[in-house]
Amino acid sequence: MALYVHKYGGSSVADADKIVNVARRIAAVHDQGHQIVTVVSAMGGTTDELIDLARTVSNEPDPRELDFLLSTGELVSITLLSMALRSLGYDAISLSGPQAGIRTDNSYGRARISQVDPDRISRELDAGRLVIVAGFQGLTPDDDVTTLGRGGSDTTAVALAAALGADRCDIYTDVEGIYTADPRVVANASKMPEVGYEEMLELAAAGAKMHPRSIELGAAYNVPIYVASSFVDATGTLIRQVSDDRQMEDRIKVTGIAYQSNVAKVTVCGVADRPGVAAGLFEPLSEAGINVDTIVQNTSADRTTTDISFTVTTDDLPRALRVIAPLETALGMGQVISDPTLASVSVVGSGMQNTPGYASRMFRILADGGINIDMITTSEIRISCIISRDQAQEAVRLLHQGFELDKSR
Ligand code: ASP
Ligand code: MG
Repeated sequence: MALYVHKYGGSSVADADKIVNVARRIAAVHDQGHQIVTVVSAMGGTTDELIDLARTVSNEPDPRELDFLLSTGELVSITLLSMALRSLGYDAISLSGPQAGIRTDNSYGRARISQVDPDRISRELDAGRLVIVAGFQGLTPDDDVTTLGRGGSDTTAVALAAALGADRCDIYTDVEGIYTADPRVVANASKMPEVGYEEMLELAAAGAKMHPRSIELGAAYNVPIYVASSFVDATGTLIRQVSDDRQMEDRIKVTGIAYQSNVAKVTVCGVADRPGVAAGLFEPLSEAGINVDTIVQNTSADRTTTDISFTVTTDDLPRALRVIAPLETALGMGQVISDPTLASVSVVGSGMQNTPGYASRMFRILADGGINIDMITTSEIRISCIISRDQAQEAVRLLHQGFELDKSR
């Protein structure tokens, strides 16, 4: 008997038929003699609707109240799924995040899981029940409900799998697995049978549709994560610790191309070139919970002032600008320019480590495609370029071809 955690995303539980489909799939795992805990997201589109609804009564909804409201989306899907299972004759029980023992810090809207107390779930499993848990939510030390950030149900699922010592965490979604590039953009993108945590973390951070924190947790607790479709019966992608036993030629290849189309750039011109200026700029942004990605600082010719550019998501741009505005005199800054029309494209592969030539090849491919590079960042196994959003999909196609990912692997 194995213990599995399955997670179904919003598109997999978007209507009654789909919920019954998920119920049947879970029931089949139970029928095979396994224990199963299922984490679900809100029915597709619900979280966005709840956010819009909040905005109809308040321009800037109170964070505690907003999280409490958003948590109701998942309560709808877990209860319906449990009812569907019960009407198929199975003993199912739904649990909210707090009931399931998920504890978080008190950062509303982006809470981090501090601890999982799996007692209640274990008791229900021991009683032979199918346990359905609300994703994306937890409880603060003061007993208030938090949410984990958009797409956070993946992280709930992996956290539960780690706490319960599950054999595997399956993430069922509307794509068949992890691809060498978004298959909606690149027609001949291929599905990877497996990918290591490190590469997957970079791909997720660079836009592949998984909550990056779930991959971090998977790596930290060594939980194998299997990503597959809830609609088609096809083999998905296993994310796990890969010992590098790949063939030599495969190892030096790029693993995948990712992109993010919601990038905005802020440039603060003419800030004083002295210690403390970067800290003075980025501390308030981080306190406001704004995630800053690429940062570039230049030294000006006269060595007295400098320009600092950084990127945030387009969603965070208005807030970032509001945080920066009052800093003007303290930092002696000049003009602040922003551009909300950007995207990032990234090339990821552990084979790039200690191997020169990947960056220049990427820049050449983009140049030959007439694509201008605005900013560049790298990690050991990733190179990202900030480019114009309307060229992002073309860039993904060119890079997929240029790095020979379209050849059979
Ligand atoms: N329902 C939440 C969202 O839309 C959480 C999730 O889908 O994982 O972001
Ligand atoms: Mg989702």
